[in-house]
Amino acid sequence: MNTQGRKTHIDALGVEGGGAASAAAGTISGNRALMLEEPLIFEQDSPGTTGVDLPEPPAVKSRLGQVRERGRIGLPGLSEPEVIRHYTRLSQKNYAIDSGLYPLGSCTMKHNPRLNEKLARLPGFSDIHPLQPERTVQGALELIDTLAHWLKTLTGMPAVAMSPAAGAHGELCGMMSIRAAIEDRDGGTSQRRRVLVPESAHGTNPATAAACGFTVDAIPADATGRVDVEALKSKLGDDVAAIMLTNPNTCGLFERDIVEIAEAVHAAGAYFYCDGANFNAIVGRVRPADLGIDAMHINLHKTFSTPHGGGGPGSGPVVLSDALAKFVPLPYVVHGPDGFSLVESGADEDSTGKEFGRLKGFHGQMGMFVRALAYILSHGADGLRQVASDAVLNANYVMASLGDVMTPSFEGPCMHEALFDDRFLKGTGVTTLDFAKAMIDEGYHPMTMYFPLVVHGAFLIEPTETESKQSLDAFIRVMRGLAERAKSGDADHFLGAPRMTPRRRLDETGAARKPVLRWVPEVEQREAAE
Ligand SMILES: *Cc1c(COP(=O)(O)O)cnc(C)c1O
Repeated sequence: MNTQGRKTHIDALGVEGGGAASAAAGTISGNRALMLEEPLIFEQDSPGTTGVDLPEPPAVKSRLGQVRERGRIGLPGLSEPEVIRHYTRLSQKNYAIDSGLYPLGSCTMKHNPRLNEKLARLPGFSDIHPLQPERTVQGALELIDTLAHWLKTLTGMPAVAMSPAAGAHGELCGMMSIRAAIEDRDGGTSQRRRVLVPESAHGTNPATAAACGFTVDAIPADATGRVDVEALKSKLGDDVAAIMLTNPNTCGLFERDIVEIAEAVHAAGAYFYCDGANFNAIVGRVRPADLGIDAMHINLHKTFSTPHGGGGPGSGPVVLSDALAKFVPLPYVVHGPDGFSLVESGADEDSTGKEFGRLKGFHGQMGMFVRALAYILSHGADGLRQVASDAVLNANYVMASLGDVMTPSFEGPCMHEALFDDRFLKGTGVTTLDFAKAMIDEGYHPMTMYFPLVVHGAFLIEPTETESKQSLDAFIRVMRGLAERAKSGDADHFLGAPRMTPRRRLDETGAARKPVLRWVPEVEQREAAE
């Protein structure tokens, strides 16, 4: 093991006292019982070692010319057990929904039933190829069509685009659909370039609008944490293409004036995009179509389980109203007398003639479709309704149990997530970030912090419906204990946290501003220094 190299790597990450974690443990190995130190795989390199036994390649004259390999390509040499141990140790350093409560607000980190995984691994779904002839994948196409039917039924919408690969991708799809509809309606001469987005919106909303060539105009929140309807109406005009509104919003509140907002937006000739990432709170209870929504993405990976985190995989189908139903991405599944088929181009006889092209190589995230449909069918319509009720009940239990020691940002009950701000930490010398670090020592992944931006030092806690009362009580006990500790003047406890993790507190600013993304072998470093 190359300890020298490891230190270099830790310094490069900007870790304060990085080596101290092992030194403090006082063990010879640097390990702390089951918490094993793990160098980078490159630092474990033993040149020439491999996990396979291959015969020497025959000596043939290379035909690669200029593109011939000139030096080592730098892949580390390790045996099979070394590789397995490396990745197993790394995986043990992860916090996961399978190891404990994961209260990240807005992310809906719920339990993923194992049944979904089992079904997604059926060879008929997992071993097929998107370029296979349609007649050989009728079951897969039927599954996409059945899931689409459920999504349309649950939202009351007439159409759904299945191919977007995540929530943000769904927003892009919905806004491209709106842009296509406006251009079609106004004959390509539309002056509608402005999109209204509430201040509390997820960052992907303004980013999507800007990526589609619109300018973004922020709508302020009122004192109850909801959209200020009068401010919204004053911003409507014939240059507005759409509003992008999240409901329930990112403060965990239902936008009570949503129908009035939809009517005003439509009267101004604009479309209503709804960010449906929080559908978990209302699924089975409210149909977005009844609220006047024109387009809404559904994060299958938030509402209908399917694992997520770490960058994917996700799936963000977009439901569309009558006004937008023709303006869809290709391809999509249709059902005819000869079974299921895919509309792949505008020349297809089933084409709407108004498709705006492809968003993705193929038809969508098949594995996520299988998991989401398994989740839907195993819950049934009544079970899905129960999901929403339990998610809201759990969040309100957290809100009510912490309301006296922390500061809820808005009055009254919440929907699926409880929002607090940092007023209760005033004068303690402890920030939201310090508080989050102390939660890690208690064995919890922190909640979403500093988002939404409309409150100061936000704590956004979303327990989801899959936590039991016992698990919520344990979490509440920790949160209460930490809040009381901060108020008792023990700031040092927080400023020094985390103490029990493989690494202590990171210099996050340094890591963001001066990221060191490439590991340099020690030899090269020495050569560079000479
Ligand atoms: C998660 C989320 C998104 C983005 O979804 P991704 O699948 O992560 O791209 C957008 N808006 C809100 C409110 C979200 O919570």
